[in-house]
Amino acid sequence: MKTFCGRANPTTGAMEWLEEDENYDYHQEIARSRYADMLHDKDRNVKYYQGIRAAVSRVKERGEKAIVLDIGTGTGLLSMMAASAGADFCYAVEVFKPMANAAVKIVEKNGFRDKIKVINKHSTEVTVGPDGDMQCRANILVTELFDTELIGEGALPTYEHAHKYLVQEGCEAVPHRATVYVQLVESKRMWSWNKLFPVHVEAEDGEKVIVSPSEMENCPGVPSVCDIQLNQMPSSDFTILSDVVTMFSVDFSKPVRSASTYYRVQLEPVKSGKAQIVLSWWDIDMDPSGTINCTMAPYWVKSTSAFQWRDHWMQCVYFLPNEEPVLQGEKVYLTACRDEYSLWYKLQKARGEEENKADVRVESPVCRCQAHLLWNRPRFGELNDRNRTRQYIKSLMKVLKTDSVCLSISDGSLLPVLAHYLGAKQVKYYLQYAAFFFFQFFKANHLEDKIKIIEARPELLTSSHLEDKKISVLVGEPFFTTSLLPWHNLYFWYARTAVTSHLTSSVTVLPQSASLHMMIVEFQDLWRIRSPCGTCEGFDVQTMDDMIKNSLNFRESKEAEPHPLWEYPCKSLSDPREVLTFDFRKTVPQHCLSTEGSVNLSRKGKSHGAVLWMEYHLAADISVSTGLMQISNEKGNCEWNPHCKQAVYFFSSVIESETLSDLPSAVTYAINFNTKTGEIAMDFKL
Ligand code: SAH
Repeated sequence: MKTFCGRANPTTGAMEWLEEDENYDYHQEIARSRYADMLHDKDRNVKYYQGIRAAVSRVKERGEKAIVLDIGTGTGLLSMMAASAGADFCYAVEVFKPMANAAVKIVEKNGFRDKIKVINKHSTEVTVGPDGDMQCRANILVTELFDTELIGEGALPTYEHAHKYLVQEGCEAVPHRATVYVQLVESKRMWSWNKLFPVHVEAEDGEKVIVSPSEMENCPGVPSVCDIQLNQMPSSDFTILSDVVTMFSVDFSKPVRSASTYYRVQLEPVKSGKAQIVLSWWDIDMDPSGTINCTMAPYWVKSTSAFQWRDHWMQCVYFLPNEEPVLQGEKVYLTACRDEYSLWYKLQKARGEEENKADVRVESPVCRCQAHLLWNRPRFGELNDRNRTRQYIKSLMKVLKTDSVCLSISDGSLLPVLAHYLGAKQVKYYLQYAAFFFFQFFKANHLEDKIKIIEARPELLTSSHLEDKKISVLVGEPFFTTSLLPWHNLYFWYARTAVTSHLTSSVTVLPQSASLHMMIVEFQDLWRIRSPCGTCEGFDVQTMDDMIKNSLNFRESKEAEPHPLWEYPCKSLSDPREVLTFDFRKTVPQHCLSTEGSVNLSRKGKSHGAVLWMEYHLAADISVSTGLMQISNEKGNCEWNPHCKQAVYFFSSVIESETLSDLPSAVTYAINFNTKTGEIAMDFKL
């Protein structure tokens, strides 16, 4: 069946009706899923297997039959482990239909048809009884329902329900327990993802400072978790203020309560500094004694030998509502509040314990300043990036004249303020949304009558919006919140085209052009998320591999996917290559832009894929890159823009060149930008 979905095209801005196959969403889900990553997570799999074997043994030793409930079975992996370990019967519950179907196939292929029953339901819908989904309650509860924040995928309500209705009292649970750890740190880098730092502008008439509205000062921000590969954060980017402490534990073998609550610990700072950030991760004990432990602890906490790369579980960064000076040795209280699905933190000075307790309120944080709704964490980081701002200031100074009439087109941008301070006579700020925030922001900077906000789509811009003025300088970062892939910001070009009639004949457009760049890389680890697994702990999971492959090929042309590569180390195997350019001084052409060529592989390694990114040429000799910053050594290690996601196109087969002479030393490519649809299609041959 086909359905029609309406959406604004992220690149062209056009409203379009897409005829979507009803399977599209689920193919996306499978293709972009974490199942492959989980199957590659050897450390996780081995420990689950050990924990399950131990639990089955404990039940058998008691002379009971081992009846397993596996909630969220996915590929059926944990149920197959249980059956192999001697469980008498397994109920494997999976809510996502394509996965439940896959589990049935995988279970059958591995010969467990009479031991494992796959139930395609949400666990809270499962019935127990002679006519129910389960004949009786289980005495072993196996699950893997955790996200980086532990509880974000609904583990708590699922456990709460399971203990009430699906498992016996005193059941065994694998994992047996989870523990959340925290560490207090000061970090300018991470704090810059949460607050707007003052922006200093050297203007002709003295230094100007752009400040944020006072509402931002104590704003608790948004409750969505900030999960990152903390192992990619160099220790020079933060200062540890406390030891690692246990925040709370959950025993999964006992009834679990999911209702909102809080936990509190006392910390004694090991160093004086500004408490800004709570870093957090968890571990799970697969058995009651805690001898089988799987931990997400970052590099400075655990020994490197225990290291397992994974993307489905990372570490969390929590921002305190405001920075709080702490003194070495002077105790403070850290409170973790949680609801069913998320966590947030507060820090209090150690006054009377009772006094502090009275302060605890567990409502989830709500952004009061609006900025956290407008700017996500990487965007805050980008706006706080002084080097980047300097490039924009330098180029604005080159193009602005005292009589410039300037129009800015970019979401949540500070460019209009920079343009005003750098001397533009009039500044218009075209905005699709968030006007309310900008009214406040301009007020805080006494700019409310200096910069005019226009709330109209570019194609609906009229000369009355512009007070009958023609635009002499059109500026953009460009940045749009609807952009997922780097080239989606080419929306600036389409907006520029739509407002052409309002531009002077000698208009200056900043950036004057953009270019798309490409490089072949070998990933240290990221390849795992898209690589077939074959067998997992001795179980044949090829059905899952085939399913992922099928979903990846569902669209005629494979798609690139966005990843923030500062979190995913890779080395370059080819030189970076500029493949397409987009001239913003002209309107978007009718014809497609395409290119073909080949790049030489100049380093040995595995060609996992191509990385693509945009560079913006702001003015003569001034460019900013949203991708590669530099190749940092002769090994080819890459340094990426830390605020942007780059596009990764994974090759369907990996070519390994051990020595430079023995192999295809080049990759040929064909890249086509369809100016009508705004889409980039690409094809690579190894
Ligand atoms: N157990 C597998 C897969 C884990 S991923 C493994 O360890 O490899 C978690 C799976 O649980 C997902 O497929 C998700 O669809 C499913 N799921 C999450 N909550 C569920 C619930 N309450 N009931 C049924 N399935 C659930």
